[in-house]
Amino acid sequence: MMTIPREVTNWIDGRDCPPSTNQWFDNLSPADGTSICRVARSGAEDVRAAVSAARRAQAAWAGKTAVARGDLLREIALAMRARRQDIAELVARETGKSVKLALGEADAAIEMGMFIAGEGRRLYGRTTTASMAHRTVMTVRQPLGVAGLIISFNTPMPNIAWKVFPALLCGNTAVLKPSEDTPLSAWIFARICQDAGLPAGVLNIVHGYGAEAGMPLVESPDVKLVSFTGSCATGRMIHKAAAERLAKVCLELGGKNALVVCDDAALDNAVNWVLQAAFSNAGQRCAAASRIVVFDAVYDRFRDLLVKATRELAVGPTDSDFMGPVINARQVTRLEDAVRQAKAGGAVILAGGGKLKDAAHAAGCYMAPTLLENVGPEAAISQQELFGPVAVLYRVAGFEEALALVNRSSYGLTSAIHTTSLHRAMTFAERVEAGVVVVNGGTHGSEPHMGFGGVKDSGTGWREAGTEALDVYSDWKYINLIADPAKV
Ligand code: NAD
Repeated sequence: MMTIPREVTNWIDGRDCPPSTNQWFDNLSPADGTSICRVARSGAEDVRAAVSAARRAQAAWAGKTAVARGDLLREIALAMRARRQDIAELVARETGKSVKLALGEADAAIEMGMFIAGEGRRLYGRTTTASMAHRTVMTVRQPLGVAGLIISFNTPMPNIAWKVFPALLCGNTAVLKPSEDTPLSAWIFARICQDAGLPAGVLNIVHGYGAEAGMPLVESPDVKLVSFTGSCATGRMIHKAAAERLAKVCLELGGKNALVVCDDAALDNAVNWVLQAAFSNAGQRCAAASRIVVFDAVYDRFRDLLVKATRELAVGPTDSDFMGPVINARQVTRLEDAVRQAKAGGAVILAGGGKLKDAAHAAGCYMAPTLLENVGPEAAISQQELFGPVAVLYRVAGFEEALALVNRSSYGLTSAIHTTSLHRAMTFAERVEAGVVVVNGGTHGSEPHMGFGGVKDSGTGWREAGTEALDVYSDWKYINLIADPAKV
């Protein structure tokens, strides 16, 4: 078993640094409420030190070739592979998810590292034509400087990998502010980076709460890019604060993702995908399906199959459980309140509905997988992201009504349709307002080489992962070369 540190300090300029505030907070296990470790509760002074270390390290890091930076990032990915079990055990401990799921996430993070490391040998620009004779025009990517990276708790290791690997590959140095709920994943990532030989100051980690440790990073004049993954409300605050000095901002925000089940769908397959999309990782995915839109002709049959399967889901922290707890007690209260409010508005609870209170679950943050119906499209539970294992079923007459309902959301992250009709699938793909469309699958499932992001309130138009991530972490420079054939 991996030994858990009693204290998680900041990591600045290659050194463990206690918080300048001398304040700490307890990291509690969502699975059983026990204290795991204490964590640095950092403030503006810690952020200043981290940004300054990143600034000092940036020129030398950017001075290495992209190939050399990629080589080092590959070493980090390989070291992660060697320690994937340690990583998974820590992530499982701090999130309550199973080690099996955490191993899958560790592998996804490693794969992102491998993919981005390879970009060191590509990092393509363009050459183009020019109106002037003998002029050659080309574009090259330039680093931005110091990147401020702020992330959510839900899949902590991929969240780190999606930002840190492309940020560093492009020649930036970085300050990472992990979620206060998942400090250990950042802690082990720092150890691995250090052992793999990442120079001091290239990556710095500051722990703490959003307003105290995150906002000073956003407001720092030396941070040239803020890349944020989290809620829409926090994203708006960050965007406003960074706009003051016109900093580049990449926001990857929430979703209220819909999955449509047509009358020609394979219903068993659709049920299986809804379980995965709505409840895996306890519904704590930006890409989770929380609105299940079903054609009237198959609604009753589909609902009965789904309700039965949902009630049978095993909930707990082990590899044989389907899903674990949500991240903290506040989140359970929020979910229960949302369900209570929906019920008061006429919603019918088909499965779950609240916290699991039996002896095996009482000490943890276990919300039962919950299904509701009889909810209007404008009700709060239809519009607000819950980020938990709660989904609503909607009955529609046919395709046009389904599409209109799917698009009746301020969010536009992911979507899915279950149909055997190519015509329906393609028309849905063309007209749905979402950054990702899946046919006959779940609403999630992106891979490291695929750009991921949404439209409307789900983000600011950037894509993370894929080669698209390089656009977030670099600027373009046009270089003009003018030759004079007379001087040959
Ligand atoms: P959150 O917005 O509460 O917190 C995210 C991060 O921001 C944390 O590190 C937090 O400490 C920090 N933060 C909070 N307030 C801040 C402030 N005032 N200034 C600076 N930083 C601040 O979100 P969460 O609860 O951690 O995550 C859930 C949300 O994340 C959901 O909306 C989910 O959809 C979204 N998410 C999106 C993606 C994506 O790729 N689009 C991926 C995962 C999660």
